[in-house]
Amino acid sequence: ATEDIKVLLLENVNQTAIDIFTEQGYQVEFHKTSLGEEALIEKISKVHAIGIRSKTKLTEKVLAHAKNLVVIGCFCIGTNQVNLEYAASKGIAVFNSPFSNSRSVAELIICEVIALARQLGDRSIELHTGTWNKVSAKCWEVRGKTLGIVGYGHIGSQLSVLAESLGLNVLYYDVNMIMSLGNSKQVATLNELLSKSDFVTLHVPETAETKNILSTPQFAAMKDGAYVLNASRGTVIDIPALIAALKSGKLAGAALDVYPHEPAKNGAELFTNELNPWISELVSLRNVILTPHIGGSTEEAQSAIGVEVGTSLTKYINEGASTGSVNFPEVSLRALDLEKERNTVRVLYLHQNVPGVLKTVNNILGNYNIDKQFSDSQGDIAYLIADISGINNDEIQSLHDQLSDTPYKISIRLLY
Ligand code: NAD
Repeated sequence: ATEDIKVLLLENVNQTAIDIFTEQGYQVEFHKTSLGEEALIEKISKVHAIGIRSKTKLTEKVLAHAKNLVVIGCFCIGTNQVNLEYAASKGIAVFNSPFSNSRSVAELIICEVIALARQLGDRSIELHTGTWNKVSAKCWEVRGKTLGIVGYGHIGSQLSVLAESLGLNVLYYDVNMIMSLGNSKQVATLNELLSKSDFVTLHVPETAETKNILSTPQFAAMKDGAYVLNASRGTVIDIPALIAALKSGKLAGAALDVYPHEPAKNGAELFTNELNPWISELVSLRNVILTPHIGGSTEEAQSAIGVEVGTSLTKYINEGASTGSVNFPEVSLRALDLEKERNTVRVLYLHQNVPGVLKTVNNILGNYNIDKQFSDSQGDIAYLIADISGINNDEIQSLHDQLSDTPYKISIRLLY
């Protein structure tokens, strides 16, 4: 029953998530901070779900004590604070929130496009340091200019709509064919985009293919006096090549929100990290806006994260839906109204991905009517959801025992 579900929320997870869990009738324990290892082990052993942000380390040692845990919610983007493989091997699904802050990033880019065109950063620094410098040379309106978006995903496409509302023309380049929004146009090659855009902004994932996607030849292919923006990942721009293009006057400005080696906490680490030797040269350049990875950092994004992850967790707990999980095969079936559908059980069966398992399981389930069934695998694990009907209440325990005894089972839950 939902009242028996215990949820531990750490690191001041957003109120929107608390509301979702409370509404479900779950028992919620909330802490503003993370917990030390010992306290964490003590608490995690008693709960079915845990919500964390980046500071709580869910290592193999901690998870080994999590005997009732079925799901972990990372109320953030990153998931490297969790041992994902070990969690999967124990049948614990992990969810995060990759897209809740797309709008915030898109708005930051809009702001920076105008700020670069008007040299806003420089004027502000000058006045802060005592100099009145009223200029109009090389300051532009953005109306009628062309914005080139590399990567037309969640952020790129949202940005496209906002940019057109300001009167910008939008071109985009993506490895996939994607339907254009508004009047934007997809171009066939990156070079075509570079040669036609006044502003080039990157919204691609960090992959081997996107590493240094903008380097010396790409800057050379751009229009004279163009601008570059990057709020995706620090590896996608060759920064020394960018510095050279800015210094030569080929580019008129740049805005960077992300860096190849970012500090783990607030402070001066970006400047002391010897892997960023170009930083002092970068900060000395004109019309370069530098921000500390704040693209998605807004109050709205935080509450959207609470809703997105909170919903994923309740759907997994109540229905077994693993869509969006980062360490499980993605499987879901239409929600079952267990109040109405009597003599029906939903079987959630996670197993090692070896041949013959489904045959064994279906031998057991085949004693009843299998209404629906869906399974998928990912690496070493596989996940099956099946709705079976025609089962009496007094047969449920026996079904559970039989499935529990199957050789490659990782975990099993029955919803009824
Ligand atoms: P997404 O997965 O929705 O979109 C990425 C797009 O890039 C996809 O359409 C994909 O087809 C395309 N793509 C992949 N490889 C490509 C290539 N080599 N050339 C061209 N296109 C390519 O991702 P998203 O949510 O829009 O995020 C985009 C980037 O922004 C990611 O790197 C993400 O980590 C980053 N991000 C940064 C912040 C921040 O605070 N600055 C916040 C959120 C996301």
